[in-house]
Amino acid sequence: MYQGSCLCGKVKYEIHGELGPIGLCHCSRCRKANGTAFLAAAQVNPDEFKLVSGQECLGDYESSAGVHRVFCKHCGSPLFSRRPGPAVVMRLRIGTLDTPLQAKAQSHIFFADRAPWFEFQDDAPKYAQRPM
Ligand SMILES: [Zn+2]
Ligand SMILES: [Zn+2]
Repeated sequence: MYQGSCLCGKVKYEIHGELGPIGLCHCSRCRKANGTAFLAAAQVNPDEFKLVSGQECLGDYESSAGVHRVFCKHCGSPLFSRRPGPAVVMRLRIGTLDTPLQAKAQSHIFFADRAPWFEFQDDAPKYAQRPM
């Protein structure tokens, strides 16, 4: 089980399952939404995600058609994205985890759009856009 929370601690969650591979996204939307060089996220099964507290603090911004970025309205921490549909896709912002992760990042996507001020020295595959 994994536990996580936002910066102010009002939002707390648990994941009763495994995380998907860690992906780093360098697209401009992710850079802006997180105020940093890239987003670190992992897919989680929505059925295994349990909000422990802070439901009333959740804000939701549709950054592109069908993609909702969910954050804490009190402290601004980005928490996860949600793409509704027949199979809801939920991507957790893993920087909000309180449980330490052993896994390393598996891939970089939209690497062509990366911030020029940070050098990457890892061996994870780097895709110019989204891998097919
Ligand atoms: Zn918060
Ligand atoms: Zn992105």
